[in-house]
Amino acid sequence: MKIAVVRETRPAERRVALVPEQVAKLVQLGYEVAVEPAAGERALYSDDAYREAGAEVAWGADHAATVVASVQPLERERLQRLHAGTALMSFLPTNPPDVVRAATRARLTAFAMELIPRISRAQAMDALSSQALVAGYRAAIVAAERLPRFFPLNMTAAGTVPPAQVLVLGAGVAGLQAIATAKRLGAVVKAYDVRTAAAEEIASMGAQPIELELGTLDGPGGYAREMTPERAQLQRDLLAPYVAGADALITTAAVPGRTAPMLVTREMVERMKPGSVVVDLASEQGGNVEGSVAGTELMIGNALVWGGSNVPSQLAGPASRLYGQNVANLITLMTRNAAFDPDFSDEIVAGCCVTHDGKVLHEPTRELLE
Ligand code: NAD
Repeated sequence: MKIAVVRETRPAERRVALVPEQVAKLVQLGYEVAVEPAAGERALYSDDAYREAGAEVAWGADHAATVVASVQPLERERLQRLHAGTALMSFLPTNPPDVVRAATRARLTAFAMELIPRISRAQAMDALSSQALVAGYRAAIVAAERLPRFFPLNMTAAGTVPPAQVLVLGAGVAGLQAIATAKRLGAVVKAYDVRTAAAEEIASMGAQPIELELGTLDGPGGYAREMTPERAQLQRDLLAPYVAGADALITTAAVPGRTAPMLVTREMVERMKPGSVVVDLASEQGGNVEGSVAGTELMIGNALVWGGSNVPSQLAGPASRLYGQNVANLITLMTRNAAFDPDFSDEIVAGCCVTHDGKVLHEPTRELLE
């Protein structure tokens, strides 16, 4: 019963799937843990810290393991070297489906961390939420750092400096964390989201919810629905004055399975004041802000536009700690009678299992492959 912790190979990926503290708990649960040398290095967890937690620091994809834990999915070549029946736990984007095909062919059991159902019982395993929290915090910090003025109100003998005006569009997990962080830094925050519950959630963070003369857009599972082109245009028109008045704009809007909604046009950014900052957390999914580029800072008019790229990885230590806790909780759920024995009739296990025993179990992925 061995858990392997992989050293991530993508250059921008600094996180690690389990941190030493979680390794110690899994060892107590009866697992052996093998860590690929330097797996935690970029998240500032040393090989020695893993050894002290009870892990063996020696693993490679041609070694055996019951569970292989990673953040990003393993590349095809590494998957092919694993033994049939090995369980994988990682984020597993199913489009493009090459990795899923390789995992199916190699008869691996692949669990996708982004498919953990968003139900109360699964909250401790919800990696989308834990990583969105990190991204939302980082978005506010980036905005505060790039903005050439104070976030808080300053009343001094030399005069009063007004606080920064921050606008947050999309108030899910990342947006609410961005609001909380910007508030802690002293900014005045306004926010908008299409879900009915959002106004109350925004207000509970101490921000002012923006109410537009538009209906709400609630979709299945507590998520938002996609906008029609007409509604999108109307929403942009109604939001334009708020964007023009903001010193910092943070966007986090997403709709599951779709490209990110375009909430702010280039023209709207061009109307922002000199020195304004835009942080687009949705850049990798197509962007909420027209012209934003993932992993790049560029100027549009007088505004600096920062496009997010693997933002949780930019705070690799805490992001790994939270992700690792999600993984450790999922492994614990799948441990029965001192053995790794996932119960496929459990809603959480069934919800996140993509491939098992040579078959694709996740229906939308199966349809994509056909
Ligand atoms: P997400 O990443 O899919 O989307 C981010 C936000 O963008 C959402 O709040 C969405 O409403 C908003 N959005 C989409 N289109 C928009 C538009 N056109 N204009 C403005 N905003 C737009 O969502 P998420 O943050 O992962 O989760 C959203 C909600 O799901 C949470 O706030 C919560 O209510 C619920 N949730 C529940 C659980 C649970 O019960 N375990 C866990 C996580 C989230």
